[in-house]
Amino acid sequence: MSLTLNSEATQLRISGIREFSNQLVDYPNALNLTIGQPDFPTPEAVKQAGIRAIEENKTSYSPNAGLLELRQVTAAYFNERYNCNYNANEVLVTNGATQAIDAVLRTIIEPGDEIILSAPMYAGYVPMIEYAKAKPVFLDITETNFEPEVDALKALITPKTKAILFNFPSNPTGATVSPERMDALAAFLAEQDIYLISDEIYSEITFEGEYRSFGSYPALKDKLFLISGLSKSHSMTGWRIGFILAPEALTDITVKVNAFNILCAAVPSQYAAIEALTGSKDAPIAMTASYKERRDYIYGRLVEMGLEVHKPNGAFYIFPSIKQFGMSSHEFATRLLKEAGVCVVPGAVFAAEGYLRITYAYAFETLVEAMDRLAAFVEKVRAE
Ligand code: PLP
Repeated sequence: MSLTLNSEATQLRISGIREFSNQLVDYPNALNLTIGQPDFPTPEAVKQAGIRAIEENKTSYSPNAGLLELRQVTAAYFNERYNCNYNANEVLVTNGATQAIDAVLRTIIEPGDEIILSAPMYAGYVPMIEYAKAKPVFLDITETNFEPEVDALKALITPKTKAILFNFPSNPTGATVSPERMDALAAFLAEQDIYLISDEIYSEITFEGEYRSFGSYPALKDKLFLISGLSKSHSMTGWRIGFILAPEALTDITVKVNAFNILCAAVPSQYAAIEALTGSKDAPIAMTASYKERRDYIYGRLVEMGLEVHKPNGAFYIFPSIKQFGMSSHEFATRLLKEAGVCVVPGAVFAAEGYLRITYAYAFETLVEAMDRLAAFVEKVRAE
């Protein structure tokens, strides 16, 4: 007799980002621009709300769906900020957006289903889709300004298509979708018997023009799982609070799937979340202004270096092309780390060869030094 493990679990790999950045231990002087999290502390009033909850012994289980008060303020917040129309029964509180997406996938997927996702995409999606026994199908948006277009999407739909998974503002590109394209996508999707999972975790971090949520389209409501959370907006990655907003017919099932999995999200964190979405609901504004300054700086430097780069309109990532250098993204990023001491993530990790992902949620001095090093490296490679 021997002890065995689930064979699919044994095949799981650590995230491509971690895999790459683990090399940093060998380069102690390298600058790390790989981590996708805000560089601000959690707002003070939010921290105090969490501390208060613990001191007042608000530390027992909450309902599976989350505290009623939190679900109420979440619905009100989304309705006000994003022109949605949700009530408290249409909100589930999860352990971050990650767990929200996993719960949704496990609610809808039957083995053999296909999930279409626009690529480049957040590296966490594919393992979750595959683990739920569905097949990821990639919609390449590299040639369309990193925005999905209806015709290309239509061409990928088959009878097995169960859902489309979008993430705008996007990790890794920072792209948002123009209102005109959103309208076209919404009109098309409203006619399909396909779910839409919209991961809008970066919705508070947008820079120019009107930002639109898929949650603002009434025609999509019956098929939309809107995913969000406080990790990025309120610099709360470690508190683990995410949300699913969806009609009751859907959340009724998802809450059961989730109940067996997590029982409920961490309760002191839920109390902190109430403060985040009420008293501290404007906390993201100052952070976003700071990301915008950094976006402008990094974008300007990359353009100066002669790199082809899309100007990001949200989140805190930028995704320049390195196709002109004739190297794979892995080779370029590895050489950049070893020869110039800058660690960024190869585009291949996000299903987009020929690009690099740079996170700019780092101190300005770090960004200046990193861009100086990158510029020198680019010159050196060009001279080879
Ligand atoms: N979705 C996207 C697009 C992300 O970039 C991330 C984190 O980087 C997550 C979800 C995970 O968010 P959370 O911390 O809420 O689980």
